[in-house]
Amino acid sequence: MTATSQHANEPHLESNNARLNSLRAGVLGANDGIVSVAALLLGVVGSGASASAIATAGLAATVSGAASMALGEYVSVSAQRDSERMLIAKETRELKELPAQEHEELVSMLSSYGMSAQTADTAAREIAAEERLLEAHLRLEMGIDGEDLTNPWHAAFWSAVSFLAGAALPLLAVLVAPESTAGATVAIVTLIALAVTGFVSARLAGTNAARSVVRLVAGGALGLAITFGIGVAFGGVIA
Ligand SMILES: [Zn+2]
Repeated sequence: MTATSQHANEPHLESNNARLNSLRAGVLGANDGIVSVAALLLGVVGSGASASAIATAGLAATVSGAASMALGEYVSVSAQRDSERMLIAKETRELKELPAQEHEELVSMLSSYGMSAQTADTAAREIAAEERLLEAHLRLEMGIDGEDLTNPWHAAFWSAVSFLAGAALPLLAVLVAPESTAGATVAIVTLIALAVTGFVSARLAGTNAARSVVRLVAGGALGLAITFGIGVAFGGVIA
């Protein structure tokens, strides 16, 4: 019996979860963009740099941040996918070459969920009859969803996009605000944006929204204060 996971036509239980995970990853990427660009801008503003130097620094931080997010995501997802592919190939080979041992293995994994050996044996045979052995082994043995491998290009693209979406907020704020209030405008826009992403990510995770908002806003405010202070302290020295 060939062991392939042919259930493309059946409802995919993981897809909802996967969508939620990519939404969460998007919010995290946006947070990165908001905080890193805002902190850099406040440092430059604190140093007393000219408006054009501030804008240049903000733009450079936005582009380099998005590029580094995309690269990091590409590398990590590729590595994960390589290792998952290797495990899938190994399991496929074992199912073909050692069907009896693999059957015993599946029976014992199913038994560990509280089934009797008799029931587990029947269940394993039914899974085999449905040609879903590979899928069952991958899930139970390794927690891998063989059909749901993340595409590294996809992941890289979306992490760059979410970083850009977040970074755009403090960048636009500094470009639009009058020079005298640039720092304050960036800080206010940033803290509001963090409150929103904190609320959204708590909602997605089903956790306490107030705690998430306070944590993000307080952390963000601390980061901004530190880089602003460094800008003020070193601005005179360097300029
Ligand atoms: Zn196995």
